[in-house]
This record gives sequence, structure tokens and C-alpha cells, in this order.
Amino acid sequence: MAEPTRTPTLPSIEPAQRLRQRRPESREGDPMVRHQVNPPADGWSLALPPRMWAELSEHLFLDGDEHGAVILAGIADGPRGPRLLGRELLIATDGVDYVAGTFGYRALSPEFVRDAAVRAADEQLAYLAVHNHFGSTSVGFSPVDFASHERGYPALRQITGQVVGAVVFTPQAAAGDLWLRDGARAELAEVIVPGNNLIRLRPRLAPATVSDLRYDRQARLFGDQGQETFNRLRVAVVGLGGVGSMLVEFLSRLGVGHLVLIDDEKVEETNLSRLIAAEQTDVGKLKTDLASRNALRANPEITLEPIAERVEHPTARQALASCDWIFLAADTDAARHWVNETVHRYLIPATQAGVKVPVGADGTIGQIHAATRLLVPGKTCMWCDGLINSTNLAIDMHPGEERRLARYLDEVPAPSVIALNSVAVAEAVNHFMLAVTALHEDDTDTASILHRPRSRDRALVVSRQDPTCSACGLNGPLGRGDS
Ligand SMILES: [Zn+2]
Ligand SMILES: [Zn+2]
Repeated sequence: MAEPTRTPTLPSIEPAQRLRQRRPESREGDPMVRHQVNPPADGWSLALPPRMWAELSEHLFLDGDEHGAVILAGIADGPRGPRLLGRELLIATDGVDYVAGTFGYRALSPEFVRDAAVRAADEQLAYLAVHNHFGSTSVGFSPVDFASHERGYPALRQITGQVVGAVVFTPQAAAGDLWLRDGARAELAEVIVPGNNLIRLRPRLAPATVSDLRYDRQARLFGDQGQETFNRLRVAVVGLGGVGSMLVEFLSRLGVGHLVLIDDEKVEETNLSRLIAAEQTDVGKLKTDLASRNALRANPEITLEPIAERVEHPTARQALASCDWIFLAADTDAARHWVNETVHRYLIPATQAGVKVPVGADGTIGQIHAATRLLVPGKTCMWCDGLINSTNLAIDMHPGEERRLARYLDEVPAPSVIALNSVAVAEAVNHFMLAVTALHEDDTDTASILHRPRSRDRALVVSRQDPTCSACGLNGPLGRGDS
């Protein structure tokens, strides 16, 4: 009788152990990655436009010395607590505005503080004095720092009538001491810089987390901290048609913990070929209902905020203003305008994803474009890029039927195909997930991506910025929030 066949013994690694062998939490030594990942924290935060952070970093970390500045900031509600929004950076010139201190090493000069405080009061913006310490992933105020806050801030708060305080930075950490209008005092939980990588600076690295088994394979890419980041984010999808429906599927499978779903339309028979998991019986249902059903199927623990309104409705606008990221998948000028406004006013990054299939009057098909555009606060703007038409915007703002008649009377439905949509959606979600886990190689790359399937090519398009634009810069609402 033959010997029974024996399965060769593999080197024994317990399944549980194998599952734990993920990326190390510290990214030190990884040549592709320059930032630690901190999942979003609860409490007060400060968002800085990437340009401001670049200018501030250059000032603070240029040499091995201590430097100072003041940030004037708007204020708004945020997904996990109030947010301060950096609007203006006032650099303190060394030796003139930042001088030898009576108590500490150096301090802002009384004249510089006075001028900045007057600006804060006039513009109704928070006053934040900034300086740097030496170190890497942790930072805190010294006893001398705290003593100076206690001497100066009660009076400064009274003079400005605004939130006042201080923020201390290293290149990879930040801590803040805020003196609030109601007399209370609060610590700053994090500083957020929403560039190509969404960088979060905290007083110290966030404690380790362990992610759910269902996310094991992706946590091997993002790390447990990266996976926890998705879970803590509040993300909006504006427009739940072919593109938006697929965005919701991807984001909820990725483990995004909170979705705001905005669309006032109902499912039509002609939509069925492009909506994820749609059935014949869904015709007539709200698109927000269909998207909610799909998101819950992907992640039963997800928090959903369906808003069956147009994006310009106050409820929708308010919800957008306290998100971490916005996806724009609605193709109206009103949607473009309001999302663009939210990006710059509230310093919330957004991605526009869409497909254009031009059809000539004689039926000829032009170049097909699947576009993914990144909207970076204070940097890339749909007005500057000529993507909002003010005539169409005026028509979009008209109420109900009047608007439809004015705009859509002569319009023929545009071609739309699920596979073309998927190209823009994949680029948009890939960009988002690498941004919030700080895995992009270049912090400053904000080019849009255009796929042209007919010629099988892909182009990167750099945005232009108009310095006089009243939508994205200091002439406009940049960082003003609700102030
Ligand atoms: Zn200090
Ligand atoms: Zn602009």
C-alpha cells in the first residue's frame, strides 16, 4: 500500500500573526515618504492654505534659530470641533519685529503685536502668535512661553474681541494655546495643511491603532493610522449620478466613516446603465436613497447624511462647510461655484471628477475628456481656470422651472458611459486616498489629470491663478469662514 501523500509543511506563521505584519507605524527611513500620518483629532484645529505653510516654513525653519510671525484666522465649525482658518500671515522681521525678550529668548515687538491686534479687531479675525522650537515629531510650550501668554493674552483678547493665542511649530509638529471669546482656554488639537498631501501636525504622534480585518489588505498600504484616518473623515459627494454613485461605492469600501450625500434628483430609466447596483425598481427613488443603500452595504457602520437638495440650498452649503474633503460630481455652474467658494472660504480641499463627450450639430463625436481636478485652498480655483460661466451661473441661480426652461430648453442629453466615468472616479479616489495618508511624493503638485481615451493619452494640466480673482485670494473670502 502506497504511503499517503503528505502535504509539505510550510514555515509556520499563525494567520493572526501574519495579519499583524504590516507597515511599521513610523515612516522614518522610507525614502518615498516624508510625513508621519496622524489620524484626525477631536477638538480645535487650525487649517493653513499650503502657500501660507510654505512661506511660514521657510521663515521658521530656514536656519537653526528661533523666528516669529502672526497668523490672522477666520473661524468656522468643523467635523470634530471648531476650526481656525489661516487667512493672512504677518511675518515678523528678525531684529525689527522679533527682538530680544525681557523674559524669554525672543519676543514679538510691542509695535508689531499692536498693529497685528488692530488688524485682527478690524477684520474680525483670530490673532495667533507663532514661533518655532527645535525638535521633530513632538512640541510644546516652555514655562516662559506660558508665562508670557498669561501676561499678554487676557488684555489682547479684550482689545480684539476675538480668539487670541499662540502656536508653536517644529517641521513635523504643532501645539497651540487658545484664549477663547467666552473666557475659556483651549488647546489646539492639530494643524492641517491641505495640499497635495494633507498634512496633520499634532503636539505629538497619535497613539497606535489597529484596523478591522476587512481592511487588512489596504492597511498594508496605508498603515493602521492611515486606515483610521479614513474612518475619521467626513467627506461630501455633490451629485450622485454616474460619477457620484461610483465615488460613493469606492469611498465607502475604502472605509471613509462619514459621507454627506447631496443630490435633489430622482433616478430615471436612462440613469440605470451607470448607477452602481441600480435596479429597474429604483426608478423614481431619490438618488440619495440609492447611494445611502450602497454605502451601507459596503460599510454597515458608516454615518450618512443624505441631503436631497440642490447644492446652493442652505442645508447643503452648511454641511459642505464642515467636511474634510469634497467631491464635485455635479455638472452645473452653481455646483462648481458653491464648491469653489467652500474650498477657499473654509480651506477644505475638493476634487472635481467628470467626463465630457462633445457632440457636433451633425452628430460627430469630438475628443472625449475624463477630467480629475484638484481644488487646493488659496491655490487652484475654477473661476481662475475659466471653468465657471457667469451667464449659466445666473441661470442656475433662478428658482425651479424658470431655470430649467431657460437653460435646458434646447439642450440635447449628453452621452454618458459607465466605463468613461470610472476613469475620472478612479483618478479622483486614488488621489484622495494617497493625499489623506500623505503618500504622494510631491506636496506641491496640484495639476489636473485629463484622460483622452480616443487618443489613448493622459495629460497633466497646471492651473493658472489670477492674482486679482475675487474668489480665491485675499481679495476674496480666503479663510474667512463664518467671520
Ligand atoms: Zn517657545
Ligand atoms: Zn480664483
